[in-house]
Amino acid sequence: MVVTRFAPSPTGYLHIGGLRTALFSYLWAKQNNGRFVLRIEDTDKKRNSQEATDAILKAFQWLGLKHDGEITYQSQRDEIYAKYIKQLLEQDKAYKCYMTKEELTELRETQMANKERTMYNGKYRDFDGVAPEGIEPVIRIKAPLSGEILVRDGVKGDVSFQAQDILDDFVIARSDGAPTYNFVVAIDDYLMGINEVIRGDDHLSNTPKQIVIYEALGFEIPKFYHVPMIHNSKGKKLSKRDGATDVMAYKEMGYKPEALLNFLVRLGWSHGDQEIFNMAEMQELFNPKDINKSASIYNTEKLDWLNAHYIKNSSNNELAELLTDYDLVLTSHDKKEILLDAIKDRAKNLQEMADMAKEILSTPTSYDKKAVKKAFKDESIPILNTFGAKLSNSESCHLPTDYHSLMQEVVDEMKIGFGKIGMPLRVALLGKMTGPGIDVVMAVIGKDETMQRIANAIAANS
Ligand code: GLU
Repeated sequence: MVVTRFAPSPTGYLHIGGLRTALFSYLWAKQNNGRFVLRIEDTDKKRNSQEATDAILKAFQWLGLKHDGEITYQSQRDEIYAKYIKQLLEQDKAYKCYMTKEELTELRETQMANKERTMYNGKYRDFDGVAPEGIEPVIRIKAPLSGEILVRDGVKGDVSFQAQDILDDFVIARSDGAPTYNFVVAIDDYLMGINEVIRGDDHLSNTPKQIVIYEALGFEIPKFYHVPMIHNSKGKKLSKRDGATDVMAYKEMGYKPEALLNFLVRLGWSHGDQEIFNMAEMQELFNPKDINKSASIYNTEKLDWLNAHYIKNSSNNELAELLTDYDLVLTSHDKKEILLDAIKDRAKNLQEMADMAKEILSTPTSYDKKAVKKAFKDESIPILNTFGAKLSNSESCHLPTDYHSLMQEVVDEMKIGFGKIGMPLRVALLGKMTGPGIDVVMAVIGKDETMQRIANAIAANS
């Protein structure tokens, strides 16, 4: 069974890069009827926070990414790690190192002065003397001193590291007993049954160290996929300004979860030239073998395009429900179908859609000066009055076409062009020249509100 994981360190919000590796891991597990587990890497007490963990969980919930089973918190596993440290010490695969900070600094300075690689010198590796007093030792792993460590990576191919270039006997437990990062990752991946690790390639340099731990403990090494980073359009690492922000900020900006997921699955992965993938398709088609070898480029226009696509194809009921998060309650509005049909093709995001709807639903309190000058002339007043009178007598104005017919009657009777009524009416209804069809606006706001807006506009502009 394929078991993948997402293993965030809760030091801040869930960002777009983290979410992408989570999505890849999720999809690959689902496709294989496997498990996708969540491990919170909260060993660094100074930098971790419960809020950050909550923010990650909230983002998962918003996106509908469900992890399997209980969440594993590394902070609750000290005993497990201690057990393996003890085992490695007993097997002479790890040892206590009593080197003081001063000694280490001196060693580093000498190495630097001699232009050598700065590394631990193995002083206590095979030490059998009397331990110096008053020093709490750190525990170091006995790493191989030579030979190669091969990372068989599903994205990058075989990546070979020379032991003497990259390893020294790195610390697996600090003097206070706290186990270190690469040690606990290897232990947990093994104990949690994780056999396919998909993560950012910023972790590639950790992998040989983790392999040393796997080998020391006789654990089977998982399959690795190191995913290249996401870059901005200038080819630089994604920064906050480019979108490396909190995933929940995408919700605030009005993106639909499926648009964001679709956007992310295509960052670094492709299937022919297909752009639109719903969740079922992603689960069916995603394969980490097809992850690109080079960095992917974050492109806001593409995200907007996908979002517009998903908005356009959402049911009005769903949209009405979603828009409540943008301060717009339409759920029981009797004309919500007409309103949403009129704006769902035009909005890039839900926030914009809510703004468009609010513009239609609220009585203008001011009128764009240029629009008034251009379209609201003295001659417009009798035209609007004629229309208002017809509307007042009409019992059957409900649909946009009903309003359109009534406008047509005025045009025919007064022998004027359509613009002579359409333009001033638009200014009266919306206070400006832009917006959706005015027949739609009138159908949505209804007869009384339409007459009110015409009267207001005449009073304000004549
Ligand atoms: N906790 C690490 C991070 O947030 C990820 C560890 C891993 O994927 O192996 O960057």
